[in-house]
Amino acid sequence: MTPHDSSRWMDEAVVANTLASAARPDAAALRDILARAVEGKGIAPADVASLATLSDPEGLAALFDTARQVKERIYGRRLVLFAPLYVSNLCANECLYCAFRAGNAAVRRRALRQPEIAQEVEALLRQGHKRLLLVAGESYPREGFDYVLSAIETAYAVRTPHGGIRRINVNLAPLSVEEFRRLKATGIGTYQLFQETYHRATYARVHVGGRKADYEWRITAPDRAIEAGVDDIGIGVLFGLFDWRFELLSLLQHIRHLEATHGIGPHTISVPRLEPAVGSDLAAHPPQPVSDIEFRKLVAILRLAVPYTGIILSTRETPALRRETFALGVSQISAGSRTNPGGYTQGEQYDHSQFSLGDHRPLDEVIRDVASMGYIPSFCTACYRLGRTGEDFMDLAKPGDIKRFCDPNALASFKEYLLDFASPDTRRVGESLIAAVLSEMDPSARERAEAMLRRVQAGERDVYC
Ligand code: SAM
Ligand code: SF4
Repeated sequence: MTPHDSSRWMDEAVVANTLASAARPDAAALRDILARAVEGKGIAPADVASLATLSDPEGLAALFDTARQVKERIYGRRLVLFAPLYVSNLCANECLYCAFRAGNAAVRRRALRQPEIAQEVEALLRQGHKRLLLVAGESYPREGFDYVLSAIETAYAVRTPHGGIRRINVNLAPLSVEEFRRLKATGIGTYQLFQETYHRATYARVHVGGRKADYEWRITAPDRAIEAGVDDIGIGVLFGLFDWRFELLSLLQHIRHLEATHGIGPHTISVPRLEPAVGSDLAAHPPQPVSDIEFRKLVAILRLAVPYTGIILSTRETPALRRETFALGVSQISAGSRTNPGGYTQGEQYDHSQFSLGDHRPLDEVIRDVASMGYIPSFCTACYRLGRTGEDFMDLAKPGDIKRFCDPNALASFKEYLLDFASPDTRRVGESLIAAVLSEMDPSARERAEAMLRRVQAGERDVYC
């Protein structure tokens, strides 16, 4: 048994029992759960299971409204923006839902050379991106771990007249503690890894070859990362493989384990839904599809269950659904994404891509849309660069203090985007949003924000507190 053996903390029978004994809450019970949830201290697994049974319009409206309140209080109106950078679609694994799986002849293989990676990063910087999520298949020995380390160094080294990338998060296969140490040394932000499904039998059915077939090696990867000093962790589930209620409760067990063992929980949770992928029957016919209303419900429940953990939504989802879920608890979104290596310089090529996107809009259009809904598009990277991560981040986030830093930082990074990259329409919408947000801020935060905005207007860049 390894020190973090998941059989000690990921108990499927407990999850199944909690779900089986959950009853649909009557009006009084629902009020009671939501009254506890609105305090922003999380809710018990039994409450999560009860909320998951809701289907009547009034009950759902009350759930969504409570999630909105919690999100607004803790995160304000910020939405952090990033772009994925796919460097290689070579993969030795056999995940039946993914176009990159080794045996899929329908996909053309490509690992970008370092100069090509630099060109992709330049293209993203020219759009206005500052935060990247570097993504790769799990290839070995060819284009393996050392290749990925070089890719991160290459991406950080790119400079344009508007500067370079300020934060690179990664979504990479599980590593050993020693490899995580080397990964940390490159200066990554978040290490992101989705368990895909916590249900062991389903996991075994859909991961039929390669290292990824080992459930235990994957589920314990965040433990190894934290042991190696990578204290900023993102976890997630690929929804559509198994019952979403089961996944939600298991995710909470995972979080409790991380908190109990290391004193820190995940910084983010991702909520990808299975999308069609070239050469994958499973992706075309998800075994347990999650409907749009269930998806909104699960985002809202997550927001109440783990109020201080960021929720990431990708361009897998359509613009309409993305708009609906912002209010419910999403705090980070990707925009203008391509899931094929080389996609930012050579365009979207479906036979190179990992899965098909629901939102194809360019960054400028997404920003205009988000801003016109009253959300502040943010490229902020301050916490990471000031060392406010892991336990420090949790200490800061928990009392809700994050708003004092985050709103001014978000506004400064947004202003920079408006001056350097935005179309005239987006600039107009953005400037009026900034004015509206300032007018509603408390005086000390407003003063700080105004001073930072003046510096950006005067030509200073990368202004944060
Ligand atoms: N290869 C590494 C791994 O599997 O952990 C990291 C990169 S992998 C490309 C990133 C994520 O893409 C996977 O964790 C999986 O959740 C997601 N993914 C794969 N196929 C998908 C599909 N058809 N639809 C939506 N997401 C998918
Ligand atoms: Fe490879 Fe990751 Fe796709 Fe699985 S999900 S086939 S490991 S790229």
